[in-house]
Amino acid sequence: MTATAPDRPTGGSAAGARVEFRGLRRAFGPTVALDGLDLTVDPGELLALLGPSGCGKTTALRVLAGFEHPDAGDVLIDGRDITQVPAHRRDAGMVFQSYSLFPHLTARDNVAFGLTIRRAPTAERRERAAELLDLVGLPQHGDRYPHQMSGGQQQRVALARALALRPRVLLLDEPLSALDAKVRLSLREEIRRLQRSLGITTVFVTHDQEEALSMADRVAVLNAGKLEQIAAPAELYQRPATAFAAEFVGTMNRLPGLLADHGQAHALGVTVPVDGQPPGCGREVDILVRPENVTATFDEGGNATVVSVDFLGSVTRLHLDLPGIGSVKADLPSHDATGLTPGTTARVGLHRRPVLAVAKQTA
Ligand code: ATP
Repeated sequence: MTATAPDRPTGGSAAGARVEFRGLRRAFGPTVALDGLDLTVDPGELLALLGPSGCGKTTALRVLAGFEHPDAGDVLIDGRDITQVPAHRRDAGMVFQSYSLFPHLTARDNVAFGLTIRRAPTAERRERAAELLDLVGLPQHGDRYPHQMSGGQQQRVALARALALRPRVLLLDEPLSALDAKVRLSLREEIRRLQRSLGITTVFVTHDQEEALSMADRVAVLNAGKLEQIAAPAELYQRPATAFAAEFVGTMNRLPGLLADHGQAHALGVTVPVDGQPPGCGREVDILVRPENVTATFDEGGNATVVSVDFLGSVTRLHLDLPGIGSVKADLPSHDATGLTPGTTARVGLHRRPVLAVAKQTA
């Protein structure tokens, strides 16, 4: 779907808009999809909405597009409340997961569809469609019908169609999830390149965290209809703010720790700096540590046993068993893990990098 304010000149430029969700609430019967969602998307940024199935990602996008009405709360674009503005006047272009092209129209006519609806002159329609097909790398495909194109090509056409009316906001609902891995990777780069060059504010729904971390300027993690954390990918990964964000994004170990003075904690015999420290020196907590921040050495008395060894390319992931603690994952550079086999005794420790301390999980 592509929609735009009818008074916007098609030759105008697509400056990025600021998008705000304020206290959005939407329930479907007893199911609360959005539960007071507050979120701001900065002009020109690509924001990924990430979260487990059912956390409200698609509902948030549909509310922004105008396909869904919130029970409470507001949607603002550049400070203007558009909550009551119908979808076709919202100045937003949208790309869906798959099969969203009109099957009976050629690529060119699909791209020009919005202009046709607005009765733009034929020459302008053809010119704009050609320009956009060129932009998405399909200059020779104007005469093809959807069934004559690959999934990746169809999504490029869908992207071109969404951009045809120079929307100020681009909404992408899992646009890559139906494509095979290789095409997905190349389209990721393509979308990012296009989005940057156009400077168009983009909201991207995905459940694929690698996709979110690699493409987005910032990632908003949603949990049960609320914002859990919004941060740049590296910050979200390295300094997650909550246990949910920490454990949803990437792999985490949960280890017993003891809070110490000066923002530190003791765990596995090592003192590490702590983020998000709950108060209480001497208090027992769980600390959350990435596998790459766990150390494993093999040349001295061990405190753990290697259970399995997964070669992942540049790193090798060890699954270790620590008596009294349980399973711990450690990522070592693969050249330090050559020849390791299950049953090997290891000494497990931690790098002195910040960890997140959270309330102890009760079984
Ligand atoms: P997924 O990753 O599985 O697509 P999501 O995070 O996009 O999930 P939503 O599609 O926004 O989640 O749905 C949030 C909740 O609202 C879910 O429990 C879903 O079943 C429910 N829901 C969404 N749309 C409707 C609807 N039209 N009628 C009833 N329930 C709905």
